[in-house]
Parts: sequence; structure tokens; C-alpha cells
Amino acid sequence: MVMEQYHQRRWKSPVLTHANPVMTESSLIVRFSETTLKGRNRSAFERRMAENIAVHLAPHGKFRIVREMARVTIDRGANGGGDLRLAAAIVKGLPGVANLSLARAAPSALDALTEAAMSYLDEMLSRSGLAGDRPVRFRVAASRKNKRYPLNSMELAAHLGAAALKRHPRLEVNLTQAELVLRVEIAGGAAWLFEEKTPGPGGLAVGTGGKAVCLTSGGIDSPLAAYLLMTRGVSVVHLNFHSYPFIGQKSKEKVHDLVRLLARHQPASRLIVAPFAATQVAIRDHCPEGMRTILYRRFMNRVANRVAGNEGAGALITGESVGQVASQTLQNIRVIEATAELPVLRPLIGISKTEIVERARRIGTYEISIQPFPDCCTLFQPSRPDTRAKAEAVERAEQRLPVEELVAECLAGLEVTDYGPEYFPGSWDA
Ligand code: ATP
Ligand code: MG
Repeated sequence: MVMEQYHQRRWKSPVLTHANPVMTESSLIVRFSETTLKGRNRSAFERRMAENIAVHLAPHGKFRIVREMARVTIDRGANGGGDLRLAAAIVKGLPGVANLSLARAAPSALDALTEAAMSYLDEMLSRSGLAGDRPVRFRVAASRKNKRYPLNSMELAAHLGAAALKRHPRLEVNLTQAELVLRVEIAGGAAWLFEEKTPGPGGLAVGTGGKAVCLTSGGIDSPLAAYLLMTRGVSVVHLNFHSYPFIGQKSKEKVHDLVRLLARHQPASRLIVAPFAATQVAIRDHCPEGMRTILYRRFMNRVANRVAGNEGAGALITGESVGQVASQTLQNIRVIEATAELPVLRPLIGISKTEIVERARRIGTYEISIQPFPDCCTLFQPSRPDTRAKAEAVERAEQRLPVEELVAECLAGLEVTDYGPEYFPGSWDA
């Protein structure tokens, strides 16, 4: 029945440009997320996504990237180039990627496709470790992006499934608990065979959502906050405050490690380290002890406003979460926020520490964050921090400080480091 339909529609096989259509060439298919975006937004997103992929792969070998609707196909190009497994590891971390598959190109004409699919299946079986004669639960997942293809997805799956059962009697179809899945996708004039769809971060391509300055400490929360905004398309500049000589170099290196790790998710990562010791000493010496953390954070915002201006950023990001520490009561958040001139984005505001830890583990920052090097926020920490700061009292305390001078001193000592996609940690494979 299926074959009859195929012949009735007399679908013509596209001309294959490969010298050898029996595909030895492997490819990486990258599917974009958020395809519900409409119109101009959508095409801008897809263009940016493809550009980001190109930028991230560039330092890691020669690849040919072909852009189609809502996806790209990557291969080694005409004269053999980069390692596609490395490309897959890199692309897997890019915001905007829904999922990806290492795939084999096949001719799309049904007979040739069936033949290619069967030899692919042979290979899948032999590398699956499902040795012996025992039955193997199996299914075919077919997807037809090209609606002119003569078989619909169900028909194609049924056709290939039947061929597979005939070839390997030990296979038995099981749609819900298959141990082995042969996937086939018809897109444009080509067909692709693959075994897995590996999920990416989803969300939007970095660069489609503007730029923001993240107040990045060496803690667990702010690196995750930065990552989450990246997955909304925001390009993130990291600003860290460091209190040398009260806080050692190790703390600074830790922040560099975090930023370098997060650099795998966006085309350009800048870390700006601001010297904060003079400000903290002034606050310690002239203001009520209980207010210290609140005052530190108000000064951080003042510096961040200026850095955002220089960087062309439209918002600040923090890792704040209500109630987590004394400075994060609603009242204190309000008093701290008063010195921010831009919207403060707090993606973790209502998320429990348990979930934050779990998510930080997944992106790999957790293991770095828990290294026991102090953050400047804990310097001269009061024994009884204010949990209900009053704006007027805090402003009065600040009148004893040369606010503009302290901010200017901090801005004069900024250390800027840029990390790009060349910092991809080759061994990272989570
Ligand atoms: P984190 O785990 O992000 O350090 P936290 O729970 O330790 O957060 P706080 O130390 O009160 O909370 O800091 C609140 C927010 O202030 C942080 O999430 C971060 O955005 C910012 N922040 C704190 N310390 C620094 C720092 N040294 N440099 C830059 N930003 C900082
Ligand atoms: Mg902290």
C-alpha cells in the first residue's frame, strides 16, 4: 500500500550534488527553539543563531554551515575539516538551540533511502551493545519537513519499520519503550539518518535581547542568573567587585574561572573587575555596622550604572532571591535598588536554594562556586546585619562618605578581560 502511493505520486528524486550519494559524510543537524516567534523577529533570531554558531565554531576547525528554516546543518566541508563531535559539544551549549543530532546524509528517493537506512541500522545494532539473539525493542521515528515528499511521516516510519523487521528478525516494534530508535528526517531535498536528539539550552540566541551588566560574584547564584538571561537572548557583561588586599587573588581567579566557563554560551564575554577595598573601608569606618552590606550593594549599583553606560547595556542582573540572606529582605532590596538607574533583573528572585544549586550544577558553575574563597560582601561582616533598613537612615549614613570620589576611584581601577569562544573547555561533555 505504502509503496503504491509512492509510485502513484511519481515523486522525482532531487539531483544529489555528492559525488557518492551513498553518504559517507557525517553532519550535525542543529534545530532552533522558539519557532513560535513571528515575522521579522523570527528571521532576525534565525540569522543571529546561525551567526553565533559560526562564531563559536570558528576557533575549533573548518566547518561548512548551511542555514535552512529554523535549523542549520554543519559538515566538514569539501576539503575535510573540524571534528563534528567537538562541534556538537560546543553547539549544545548555545542558547536558542532546541536540540541537535549527529546525522548521516542519505538520498531521499525511497529505495535508496531504505537501503541507506538499513545499513545505518546494522551499524546502530552492532554498536548498541545489545548482543546475542534476544529480542530488541525497536521503533522508527520519521519526520517529514518537506511536505511534497510522497510519504507522510507515519507512512515512512511504517515502511522503514517493515524493512527493518524483515532484515533483523530479533527486532520487535515497541513504540513506548524502544531500546533502539532509528530516526529519519526528510528536509528540503535531503534525508538524514540519526540515532539521538540531544537537547540544547533552548530559549533565544544571545544578541537578540540586548545587553545587560551582571553583578557577578564568585557565589552560586549570580553565575546562574547570568546564564538564565543569556538563554533569553541577552548578551551579558560581568562586573565583579574585589577587595584586594583584604581578599586574596584566589577569589579573583575563581570569578575568572566562572566567566570563562560561561563564555561557552555567548559569542563574547567580558569580565570587569572593580577594586572595592577603599569603598568598603570608608563604609566600615564611617557608617553604622548593621548597614554595611546594604551600603556595599548600593555602591556596587552606582558603579554598575556607569559601567552599563560605557558598555551600552540596558539593565543590571543580580543573583538575589528573597529571604536568602539578610540583605535580601523586600525592604532591603528596595533600599539597595534605589541607587540603580536601570531595571534590575533578578531571575532567581522566587527560586529556592535547592533548585538554584541543582541548576548551577547542571551548567557546571556550582563546582567552581563552592571553592572556599571569600567574597568582598563578607568583608567586615556585621554580627547583626539590618534586615529592615530605612531609606532615610541609609541616605543619612552615606552623607558621611565622599560618594562620587569613591565611585570614581573604583571606575579608575577597572580591570577588563575578554573571553571568547576559543576558551571552550574541550573536555566538557555534560
Ligand atoms: P551570590 O551567590 O550570587 O554571591 P548571595 O546569595 O551570596 O549571591 P549576596 O552576597 O547578598 O547574595 O549578593 C547578592 C547579589 O549581589 C549577588 O547575587 C550578586 O549579583 C551581587 N554581588 C554580591 N557580591 C558581589 C561581588 N563581589 N561582585 C559583584 N556582584 C556581587
Ligand atoms: Mg555572595
